[in-house]
Amino acid sequence: MHSLLSVANSLLSGNKLSILIYHQVLEAFDPMRPYEVTAEVFDWHMALISRYFTPISLTDAAKYLEQGKLPDKAICVTFDDGYLNNLTVAQPILAKYKIPATVYVATAFTEGADMWNDRVLDLFNDAQLSSLIIEGESVTLGDWEKRNQLAAAQLMRLKYLPIDERLAGVQKLYDDNNLAEPTPRMMNAQQVKQLADCGVEIGGHTVNHPILKVLSPEQQFDEVSRCKAQLEQWTGKPVKHFAYPNGSYGKDLTDETVELVKKAGYETAVVTDWGTSSPGDDLLRLKRFTPWDSSAWKFHARLVKSRLTI
Ligand SMILES: [Zn+2]
Repeated sequence: MHSLLSVANSLLSGNKLSILIYHQVLEAFDPMRPYEVTAEVFDWHMALISRYFTPISLTDAAKYLEQGKLPDKAICVTFDDGYLNNLTVAQPILAKYKIPATVYVATAFTEGADMWNDRVLDLFNDAQLSSLIIEGESVTLGDWEKRNQLAAAQLMRLKYLPIDERLAGVQKLYDDNNLAEPTPRMMNAQQVKQLADCGVEIGGHTVNHPILKVLSPEQQFDEVSRCKAQLEQWTGKPVKHFAYPNGSYGKDLTDETVELVKKAGYETAVVTDWGTSSPGDDLLRLKRFTPWDSSAWKFHARLVKSRLTI
């Protein structure tokens, strides 16, 4: 496999920056989250990166992009949302390979309430539970495939409701089934500071994780600036980087959003649109991609593809 990787690697041209998106790094495989990497998979992702790429911090990447002299095969590792396993599982692996990283935190979820989608998924991952009351009807859960389908249907049903109704819908699922909320999956303020103290850059990801585009300019500015102020207070460090929630340019954010992020004082911002960045690109709309594949070869091929097609 290593010779294949070397061939693929030789196709990578210099002067382009790859930015990877992760969310969670799970201690062990979770059948309700088959797309999230485990510690084992993340370890070999990082091993591959340290061997074939030049991992740099986002702060350095911004500086190099501005100066027009990126190191060869430059790559940044980023995490969205602020999961506790970024501190407990990912950070030790990052440290082992000396790979810098940025974690974007949505500050409202530091107070113990998980993100709504995790709360829905967690309803379905108790293997002891054979049925759930969903929308007033008792539904048999079955195997993991069926559970994933049922959860996906609930996520779709709730996703496009206004935030208050969506949260009420999630709460009703818990209440109807007399289920307790799982242990918080997100970092609290102290844990965010702990991660910053380990040398991981903390970035903003709004307060409430809204789709910014649908908010008024005043509400958007409040979301992007308030989370920056909170994170700076908690970490005692400047917060220079931002990730747009959902992050698809045009769909989830507009040029107005980009201007407001700039006005709030951020130096870089990342979208979720697929691609790499080159000197001269807008630092407030840096592209990223997701290395979710399950084999080293596919992972590497995806890195190569993102550089060849953009
Ligand atoms: Zn997010």
